Amino acid sequence: MRVLITGGAGFVGSHLCDRLLAEGHQVVAVDNLITRSAENIAHLRDNPDFTFLDHDVNQPIHFVGELDAVMHLASLPSPVDYLEMPIETLAVGAYGTHNALELARAKRAQFLLASTSEVYGDPLVHPQPEEYWGNVNPIGPRGVYDESKRFAEALTMAYHRARGVRTHIARIFNTYGPRMRLDDGRVVPNFVRQALSGEPLTVYDDGSRTRSFCYVSDLVEGLYRLLLSDEALPVNLGNPAEMTVLEFAQAVLRISGSDAGIAFVTPKDERTKDDPQTRQPDISRARAVLGWEPRVTLEEGLSKTIESFRVRV
Ligand code: NAD
Ligand code: UDP
Repeated sequence: MRVLITGGAGFVGSHLCDRLLAEGHQVVAVDNLITRSAENIAHLRDNPDFTFLDHDVNQPIHFVGELDAVMHLASLPSPVDYLEMPIETLAVGAYGTHNALELARAKRAQFLLASTSEVYGDPLVHPQPEEYWGNVNPIGPRGVYDESKRFAEALTMAYHRARGVRTHIARIFNTYGPRMRLDDGRVVPNFVRQALSGEPLTVYDDGSRTRSFCYVSDLVEGLYRLLLSDEALPVNLGNPAEMTVLEFAQAVLRISGSDAGIAFVTPKDERTKDDPQTRQPDISRARAVLGWEPRVTLEEGLSKTIESFRVRV
């Protein structure tokens, strides 16, 4: 296949490029590097099966030649990024998704949307199955990201129903691994960077909110299986192993061997407003239709992530 990946220089996108190339496919990565992610794909520069296009997908995407699939990952998923760039976040969910779908339609290629567990907002159903419609505050600070993805899902289903495009929607839950940006502000790079530099880990509020962390190779396997499937309905991809943020901080300290300690802080900006209190994927559908479930334990995934960060901190 020849696969075009928007957001291909990002954290997940670059791992996906590696996996598709390893499977013998050709990859075209499209990214405007708004989050300074060029180094993630530097190792692919001389690969004849890899092409990079520096392009803002909010503008129409022109590509000469055939494509078998468009995987749309371009977005601003870090809460720090989308609070700083709310308009850009909504734009890439709306115009970017439209342009990526139009490209798939024009090339008769299949389309995969990287959506998110944030479509469930601060969930009132636990764990979250795909049938749950969510609890999102559309005018809150997180709404720019959540609604950008909810719109993107609606547009994807509209192209499926009205334009006959073969589409897939992955609802991705918190994923971590090497190549996350040190300053991206999400909990994994924050805690690992802090543990390695001896600064106390900044646990927001009382650390009782929960998340479920999936290692990036497991996610990429799920995305690849979804692409090869006929499933058009959303599929949750995440690791059901749920823990509190405080427990996660303790795991980072233990696995990194750090004595940096923990600081309970209340952010002064809006980053914890509407912060989901709990989050855990119900992956029954992924098990049934993709035969997929995560394999990498937190111990193993965090060890690899910490080692990759050690040389960068
Ligand atoms: P990331 O920030 O590392 O990568 C996103 C990439 O999109 C960046 O390289 C950025 O430069 C690019 N981009 C943003 N706007 C663009 C535009 N207008 N034109 C071209 N490129 C643009 O994020 P990630 O963690 O790799 O996430 C990848 C996808 O997975 C996103 O769609 C995200 O919403 C989704 N997702 C990720 C997670 C996670 O935990 N990592 C969880 C849920 C959903
Ligand atoms: N968090 C934290 N300290 C940090 C960064 C994040 O306690 O330094 C918390 C945050 O409030 C949230 C959870 O960790 O409850 C996950 O945050 P992240 O930004 O990684 O992603 P989210 O799941 O909120 O999209």
